[in-house]
Amino acid sequence: RSWAESKLSSELLKAVERVGYKKPSPIQMAAIPLGLQQRDVIGVAETGSGKTAAFVLPMLTYISRLPPMSEENEADGPYAVVMAPTRELAQQIEEETLKFAHFLGIKVVSIVGGQSIEEQGFKIRQGCEVVIATPGRLIDCLERRYAVLNQCNYVVLDEADRMIDMGFEPQVVGVLDAMPSSNLKPENEDEELDDKKIYRTTYMFSATMPPAVERLARKYLRNPVVVTI
Ligand code: AMP
Repeated sequence: RSWAESKLSSELLKAVERVGYKKPSPIQMAAIPLGLQQRDVIGVAETGSGKTAAFVLPMLTYISRLPPMSEENEADGPYAVVMAPTRELAQQIEEETLKFAHFLGIKVVSIVGGQSIEEQGFKIRQGCEVVIATPGRLIDCLERRYAVLNQCNYVVLDEADRMIDMGFEPQVVGVLDAMPSSNLKPENEDEELDDKKIYRTTYMFSATMPPAVERLARKYLRNPVVVTI
């Protein structure tokens, strides 16, 4: 199994080579092609499986196809959001994202507790394509109108079960509801998709599937592919 089979752009393949990942891990082999097709994915995988790059690489591919963030649209917020239960995990995801993002000139901002929320809001409004956040801090930022998610159509819920266990379901739902709902794929799987339209892509990673996680998946994911490693 090789990276060449993953269908990543030549730009990202070069980035992967520079980062030094010789071969894709099983979760990467399974999830990256689905993400590139903008399919919703439920990944049942643990830390250490390479799950971060499995969602970061298709997310960066999606972003690289959009117009670069500029003064015209930066006030409409990021193109993609990743939510994670803890500050530590959000920071690990940020590091993994930056490894690849800096080759593409994609800007990443992390929104976690313990830092000035005014400053974080300012950084988002200055233009960034990706926000990586803990749900409590991000909803705070949105409620105070420091940032909006008017053009966010790519979302990752990492360790969804832990976010639920920690009581973050309302905040996660609040953030998802702040994204344009008109871009959710139709609930009816048979309905044809408009290939000129951008639909929301949602990735959910969870080690377990308790009822609250199922509920979230039923409400916000459309016809998801379940990838179990
Ligand atoms: P994760 O499961 O995403 O937390 O990743 C675990 C570790 O594996 C991280 O330190 C990554 O940098 C590393 N990693 C991810 N994918 C690969 C790969 N294809 N080859 C080598 N290392 C990787």
